[in-house]
Amino acid sequence: MMCVLCENEIIPDVVSGWDQGNNAQPLADGRCCDNCNMAVVSSRMDQMFAKRPLLTDEQKRIYKVHQIHPGGPGRKESSDA
Ligand SMILES: [Zn+2]
Repeated sequence: MMCVLCENEIIPDVVSGWDQGNNAQPLADGRCCDNCNMAVVSSRMDQMFAKRPLLTDEQKRIYKVHQIHPGGPGRKESSDA
């Protein structure tokens, strides 16, 4: 069986004898070798993060507060010159 990504022969697993490789989705439609599976898995991760829901209004508010006051409570400024 051939890897759809690198077109090398998929070598059967020495332990299980499994020779069908890995699912190459979403990079390609078919089976891929263990080497290419690394890229497949990382692209799945990217997709997962891309699908992550946007921040809720409450999360945005909290985020903003931390951005404005990175050092904690605001310091008092004296009007004396
Ligand atoms: Zn491959």
